Amino acid sequence: MLSVFESMENRGHEEVVFCNDKDTGLKAIIAIHNTTIGPALGGCRMWAYETDEDALKDVLRLSRGMSYKAAIAGLNLGGGKAVIIGDSKTDKNEILFRSFGRFVQGLAGRYITAEDVGTSVKDMEWVRTETRYVTGISRALGGSGDPSPVTALGTFSGIKATVKKQLGKDSLFGLKVGVQGVGHVGYHLCRYLTREGVELFVTDIDDASIKRVVEEFGAKVIDLDEIYESDIDIYAPCALGATLNDETIPKLRCSIVAGAANNQLQKEDIHAKMLKDRGILYAPDYAINAGGLINCANEIEGYNRERAFRQAEEGIYDTLMEVFKRAEAEDVTTHNAASKVAEKRMSDVAKLKNVYLPKKNVMGKRDNA
Ligand code: NAD
Repeated sequence: MLSVFESMENRGHEEVVFCNDKDTGLKAIIAIHNTTIGPALGGCRMWAYETDEDALKDVLRLSRGMSYKAAIAGLNLGGGKAVIIGDSKTDKNEILFRSFGRFVQGLAGRYITAEDVGTSVKDMEWVRTETRYVTGISRALGGSGDPSPVTALGTFSGIKATVKKQLGKDSLFGLKVGVQGVGHVGYHLCRYLTREGVELFVTDIDDASIKRVVEEFGAKVIDLDEIYESDIDIYAPCALGATLNDETIPKLRCSIVAGAANNQLQKEDIHAKMLKDRGILYAPDYAINAGGLINCANEIEGYNRERAFRQAEEGIYDTLMEVFKRAEAEDVTTHNAASKVAEKRMSDVAKLKNVYLPKKNVMGKRDNA
């Protein structure tokens, strides 16, 4: 097994903090991957990891992903993530999250936290009592609230960019779109798609969620596994990760994959290549679903809902067009091209380090401004 330092070095991490508070029972890990562009932002996941190694592996993987997501979205943020080891159904309480908040405060703004799997707005409000380096709090407390509508708008805009590139069309009118998962993001995505006049197909394991989109948008329901081989133009994964794999890719009849789910490719390089070889245009997940992060970034600067929506809509369209152009020019997968676009921004900004700037505090204002 690799040592902690070897694991950090392999992925290029700057700092990993192990938080252990005997009195509150908190066991957490905060990983800061890269702060070249700005403070590391990423959610706090609460999960009952079987071993500490599993928790470390997850936080290292997720925090690196956040650096790429922020860089490609053009945000002035770096990548970080935290995991709290515990069962989110039984182990949550105020003191645990306040304790976590104190560790976040101890990093003096190098890491900014938010919600993630297993944590909620309420938990982040407990964290907020101990530190201001937290986003995703409710709108009533000056936060940005639920990020799903912004994520959905960014995804919708990303679908339009992908259609423009693959089919040469400016409108989605008449196209058949299959949305897998009509929860928070999927529901709002269906709303945008319906307005544009698509033929909407949906699938979900939750009957109430399905009923809502059938009643409100006239969506047609398809079975869970049927979505891959359906006669649709666009497959929009908005539920689980790893749905693009050896089994599903050969079945696809669509020419576009563009949706909000995280980690859609089971094996990144292999499955991105399989899609390319089949002539299917894939919108890289972390580029198309960056709306939620854009929302958090706006919260740091003083939340303006209109600006957040505009940035997601325009920014994600332009980013994907740049990725597609690069992929075509270099004959690489869109996944590979997206990594290069993100890495280029990180290395370009790194060059600025030689230039003197007045010290910046993390909430975006220069101390002498
Ligand atoms: P959610 O839990 O509200 O919705 C997910 C939906 O998928 C649920 O309705 C669930 O019943 C359904 N589902 C679960 N298993 C399924 C299956 N096997 N087949 C079909 N449907 C299934 O989550 P969400 O917030 O809407 O997020 C959806 C995806 O987008 C996730 O992968 C999430 O990581 C990603 N994402 C979300 C945001 C955000 O702002 N919420 C931001 C970026 C990425």
